[in-house]
Amino acid sequence: MSHESPGDVVFSAEQISRRVAELAAAIRRDAADGPLTILAVLHGSAVFLAELLKRLGTTVDVEFVEASSYRDGTTSNGQVALGRCGRLDLAGRDVLIVDDIVDTGHTLAAVRRAVEATGPRSVRTCVLLDKPSRRQVDVALDYCGFVVNNVFVVGYGLDYAGRYRGLPHIARLEG
Ligand code: 5GP
Ligand code: MG
Repeated sequence: MSHESPGDVVFSAEQISRRVAELAAAIRRDAADGPLTILAVLHGSAVFLAELLKRLGTTVDVEFVEASSYRDGTTSNGQVALGRCGRLDLAGRDVLIVDDIVDTGHTLAAVRRAVEATGPRSVRTCVLLDKPSRRQVDVALDYCGFVVNNVFVVGYGLDYAGRYRGLPHIARLEG
C-alpha cells in the first residue's frame, strides 16, 4: 500500500505561467524567420505544451511522440521506448522538442536521435524542468523553465503512477 501524495509546492501556478510566457517570447523571437514544428513528448508535456501553444500563437505545427522510460519506481534504468516515430516526417523542418522534465537525459537524447534521423533543418529542445544533479547523458537544453533539486515532483502534467497530472502547480511527492 503506497502513501505517496503531493506535498510542498515547488513552483506555483502563477510562477509557472509567468515563466512559460517568457519561454514563449524567446521561442517566438528565435523562430522569426520561419515556421516551427513542435514535437511534444507524451504524456508529461501535455499541460506545458497547451500553455506554450496559447502563448506562441498560430505559427507552429504540432506533432507528438510517445516515450516511456523503464523506471523502477521513480528512477530510470536508461532504456527508452519511443512510439509513433515511424510517422514522423520532419525532413527540412525547424523542430522544437518539448518535454516536461530532463532527469537522467536518456529520454530527450533518444527523442533527439530519432528526430535527427529524419533529416530536419534544425533541432532545438525546450523543457519545463531540469534536474541536472541526476544527469547520465549530456543533452543540450535551448529553453528551460526551472532547475529543480533532486526531488520527485508531480503536477502540471507530471504524474506519479498515472496520478496528479491535473494539479495546477508543481509539488514535491512525499510519503
Ligand atoms: P529521463 O529519461 O531524463 O531520466 O527522464 C525523463 C522522464 O522521466 C520525464 O519525461 C518524466 O516523464 C520522468 N521523470 C523524471 N523525473 C521526474 C519527476 O521528478 N517527476 C515525474 N513525475 N516524472 C519524472
Ligand atoms: Mg516524460
